[in-house]
Amino acid sequence: MSTKTVKSKIDLTAAAPPGIEGPGFFATRIDKVVGMARANSLWPLPFATSCCGIEFMATMASTYDLGRFGSERLSFSPRQADLLMVMGTISKKMAPVLKQVYEQMAEPRWVLSMGACASSGGIFDTYSVLQGIDRIIPVDIYIPGCPPRPEQVLDGIMGIQKLVENESIRRRDSQEYKDLLAKYGME
Ligand code: SF4
Repeated sequence: MSTKTVKSKIDLTAAAPPGIEGPGFFATRIDKVVGMARANSLWPLPFATSCCGIEFMATMASTYDLGRFGSERLSFSPRQADLLMVMGTISKKMAPVLKQVYEQMAEPRWVLSMGACASSGGIFDTYSVLQGIDRIIPVDIYIPGCPPRPEQVLDGIMGIQKLVENESIRRRDSQEYKDLLAKYGME
């Protein structure tokens, strides 16, 4: 076998055109960079209590592959999650637990309500079922359906990404946000 070295014809010694010498830079706004980084590295906490959770499992699997959105790292600790995904029927007994999980999440945090049950109680219009999680915590995006298909879950995640990307880094300190939390009895 020949060990002859093939010489590259590409000239790597070409000089940079005038005006763009040096290390280079680009100008942007800090909230744009932070928003982009946050939106593409969301860590979801799946709070799955019933059948919608199965659709979420399908969304995580290879066909739909939530990893494409930077969200394949699920967190089962509220302190290491920034997206609370509520999927399934939430009974009134479970409601304080859900609220505690939300309160344990660090800011900034977002909430996605998946399916009819989490969003409105669904078909379970009974004394024991919470008629929508927005009665106890603020919700950013609702996914309709019973159950929603994985495509809808992806659509919901992309909706959250849009919100995250465009959110001001000062929003969490704003009076408007404090008032929103106060409505739910939180600080
Ligand atoms: S919305 Fe439908 S699929 Fe989802 S948890 Fe409720 S009953 Fe199950």
